[in-house]
Amino acid sequence: MADTALMTIPGLSDPVPAARDITPRADGRIDLIGLPRPRIRELFAAAGLDDKSAKLRAKQVFHWLYHRGVSDFEAMTDIAKSMRPWLSERFVIGRPEIVEAQHSTDGTRKWLLRTADGHDYEMVFIPDETRGTLCVSSQVGCTLNCTFCHTGTMKLVRNLTPGEIVGQVMLARDALGEWPKGSMASMADIVDEDDEAGHYTADGRLLTNIVMMGMGEPLYNFDHVRDALILVMDGDGLSLSKRRITLSTSGVIPMMERCGEEIGVNLAVSLHGVRKDVRDELVPLNKKYGIEDLLQACADYPGASNARRITFEYVMIRDKNDSDDDARELVRLLRQYNLPAKVNLIPFNPWPGSGYECSTPDRIRAFSEIVFQGGISAPVRTPRGRDIDAACGQLKTAAEKKSRAERDREAAAAALG
Ligand code: SAH
Ligand code: SF4
Repeated sequence: MADTALMTIPGLSDPVPAARDITPRADGRIDLIGLPRPRIRELFAAAGLDDKSAKLRAKQVFHWLYHRGVSDFEAMTDIAKSMRPWLSERFVIGRPEIVEAQHSTDGTRKWLLRTADGHDYEMVFIPDETRGTLCVSSQVGCTLNCTFCHTGTMKLVRNLTPGEIVGQVMLARDALGEWPKGSMASMADIVDEDDEAGHYTADGRLLTNIVMMGMGEPLYNFDHVRDALILVMDGDGLSLSKRRITLSTSGVIPMMERCGEEIGVNLAVSLHGVRKDVRDELVPLNKKYGIEDLLQACADYPGASNARRITFEYVMIRDKNDSDDDARELVRLLRQYNLPAKVNLIPFNPWPGSGYECSTPDRIRAFSEIVFQGGISAPVRTPRGRDIDAACGQLKTAAEKKSRAERDREAAAAALG
């Protein structure tokens, strides 16, 4: 059994070891969510099915789990009635536990989730006129300590398992009532009827896009993120196109090529600074993987083209990275590396104690204009869900906040005496 405990962050930019793919449960049953078809087949064979039935049952169960979203073996109507108890004695179909669900005045929704071993993490759903985007977490906390990011101040981290990652997408489909018909009975308690109003896609789905931009650095949990996204992209699974999925990295260069080759999703890179001293401060990983090497890795990213451009995220922080010179340098760098790029300007979302302020609206406009003039699209991202702390960089679980407050009190008490 692998370690599921939270780890103290060992350094500024060290990865944490991966957790196991199967969550051990007290009742000895195995949670199937997060497992690929061949693994389900192996488990069925190990539990006593002959090869042929293990293969057939794995195919059927896979379809029910990931395509239809059922969470009860009894609902698997093409599996013999007598077989269903055999499955439920040995296996479960898990979902992350919902601790709290919040709804912003702008329609953004945030869920505080808990893993089976008691760690909290978050996911956010952001609907707009043309799409509905789910912002998915890859880790509990983050090891990278970017100075402007609230998640980076969490002191303890563990990688999420493939089941906990794909489970977020499944939970969102549960909550939005978006599984193909006939599978929702057991989910009725969390389906929100208000959501039936909007329709974005031909099949009427609200959840159209996924961004790996929640808590954590996805490329420091590469294997689990890849395995989860493969289930999301599988035509017989959640069946979402890789063109509708974007993975955001703070610049873990050694994993970028594999990301393009083994996952093949759109890439977003958190740049935030164009000078070494500034980026070293904002994204400490820059001390290990510098700007030039990062841009070269972007130029080499498999699958990048003018039709599939790389997004450069740039958080606008007052008097830190927002001058005209910074904007010109950004254009120069992106041109130098001949990158098929678009820039996403993100107004800094404040959080208590960050020590930074957001750039003024005029400054952001001027910056955006210079980048546009340089021939690169540079829209300003509208902050969403600020009232429920769901906006970029605000994710940090309440449990963590509480324990930090407790720690602060303890520190103060210790200092006094
Ligand atoms: N670790 C990955 C993905 C998660 S962060 C990464 O850093 O790319 C997702 C995005 O939110 C990043 O672009 C990050 O820089 C941005 N962000 C973090 N804190 C923010 C804040 N306080 N205001 C605005 N954007 C922030
Ligand atoms: Fe981690 Fe990304 Fe936040 Fe940096 S911005 S601390 S890499 S989640």
